[in-house]
Amino acid sequence: MVMQKIFRAVIMGPPGSGKGTVSGRISKTFGLKHLSSGDILRANINARTELGLLMKSCIDQGQLVPDDVMSRLILSDLRAMGRSSWLLDGFPRTVFQAEALDDAYIVDTVINLNVPFETIKQRLTSRWTHLPSGRIYNIDFNPPKVPGFDDVTGDPLVQRDDDTPETVTRRLAAYKTQTEPVLEFYRSKGVLETFSGTETNQIWPHIEAFFHRKLSSYNHRVA
Ligand code: AMP
Repeated sequence: MVMQKIFRAVIMGPPGSGKGTVSGRISKTFGLKHLSSGDILRANINARTELGLLMKSCIDQGQLVPDDVMSRLILSDLRAMGRSSWLLDGFPRTVFQAEALDDAYIVDTVINLNVPFETIKQRLTSRWTHLPSGRIYNIDFNPPKVPGFDDVTGDPLVQRDDDTPETVTRRLAAYKTQTEPVLEFYRSKGVLETFSGTETNQIWPHIEAFFHRKLSSYNHRVA
């Protein structure tokens, strides 16, 4: 029997750097389970759970949800996944969260999307979302087939409350002060892989090639 090692990856990058799109492609191409902290929080808000209602104002103002709440939520979801390979998107966002994750799991690879802040500001403010699925459209380069409506379900699209220009500025500032130190945390562990560019489609082939190499060496080594 060939035992395949569990592969645990994290994707990082400023809000709007294309993490969601790239994560979708990685999970589809390589079969990793995709867990997005932002999607989990938004699902809680949509379902009007106690946690969702408590966290909504934090999120709408572009502030981070408290570390202990976020860490407990994600770690319990990871535990529920059992022995699956996964890709974490949006977590960890602070060194506290990175340490909490590190206490529970060894992260094999951290993908860092390095996209200029100016590109991101432009991108986020033209972004529309299908809330139930988390599917994202961009009116400039990835528009829905019918303006304002989701391609798959036909539901109306919405602009996220936290995609307004002032909130975007605040989210980027939070990224700089709270999340950039996490890159250093993973760089010092030797697992950080940075991919730079302004377009997801330009960065993607490099990430895809990297995962092909990485996963084949993993499965080969274990087999
Ligand atoms: P995202 O869709 O990943 O940009 O997340 C949207 C919002 O959810 C963020 O602006 C934060 O308010 C909150 N959030 C998501 N992930 C985290 C996290 N790991 N720690 C704290 N807050 C988070």
